[in-house]
Amino acid sequence: MDRRRFLTRVALGVLGLGLGAGAVAAGDAVASGFRPTFAPTFGPAGGSAGSGGPAGPTTSPRGLGHPRPEPHPMPVAQRLPPYFEPPHLTRVRLPGATLSSLPGPGNLLALTVDDGASSEVVGAYTELCRRTGMRLTFFVTTKFASWTENAAAMRPLVESGQLQLGNHTMSHPDLTKLSTGAIQAELAGCGDFIRSTFGVDAAPYFRPPYGYLNAHVQSAARDIGYHQPVLWYGTLSDSGRITEAQVLDFAQTWFLAQHIVIGHANYDPVTHVFDQLTELIRDRQLQPVTLNDVFSR
Ligand SMILES: [Zn+2]
Repeated sequence: MDRRRFLTRVALGVLGLGLGAGAVAAGDAVASGFRPTFAPTFGPAGGSAGSGGPAGPTTSPRGLGHPRPEPHPMPVAQRLPPYFEPPHLTRVRLPGATLSSLPGPGNLLALTVDDGASSEVVGAYTELCRRTGMRLTFFVTTKFASWTENAAAMRPLVESGQLQLGNHTMSHPDLTKLSTGAIQAELAGCGDFIRSTFGVDAAPYFRPPYGYLNAHVQSAARDIGYHQPVLWYGTLSDSGRITEAQVLDFAQTWFLAQHIVIGHANYDPVTHVFDQLTELIRDRQLQPVTLNDVFSR
């Protein structure tokens, strides 16, 4: 019962961080010209994100000497910006070893979305990114028509780096059961599709279907340029159909700093709770990132 009430509160977008956090945030906003308070590493607002950005006060208090304290701080949901800005990070080298979380302390969240069995869900994620500035990495499985069907809408976001494309094979097999040649054919075929359709190279990132990985798979993949397997540290558990409440429940559990979280573009319930998911990310002051935002190849 308590849990359901908690989820309802999240769904209504009223789960704030308390007055203490609000007071600190108001101070930061004054000092930084109303930059988002959850991303202290931001540089100048980038590209179209800036022009479509936060609808903060148009009369900046900068230069007024001693801005008056806000007598009635706005609720968190109104104070936070409507748009995720691109991060400005100093990228680190890829570990080479299997990646399941992001290194070091920080406030980053790497959402990764796999498969693409539903063209509508791929389209909805793409629109979410366009609308909110969300950054994520798709792990593309090329047997699904969704990637071709949504290519035109995805392309500008791929080109800007807001959407990253990783390799999730052609037919989604258990790679540990395949020969070296078959493993490489699965990865190379997917990589070729991504390159010819979107003009980008998915390598070195690949996600083995089901997370099934062994030394043989890694060696075969490495030999054709895929030297960075990506697993996860938290999941929306929606490779099959679950309810919207369950998606939110898993997000509550796993949307945490420096986590790589896996979701799937297979069933539509997740698309019905996009607003609650973005609220949750903002409330937790997390910065959405792609893997390329964090790592140099
Ligand atoms: Zn998959």
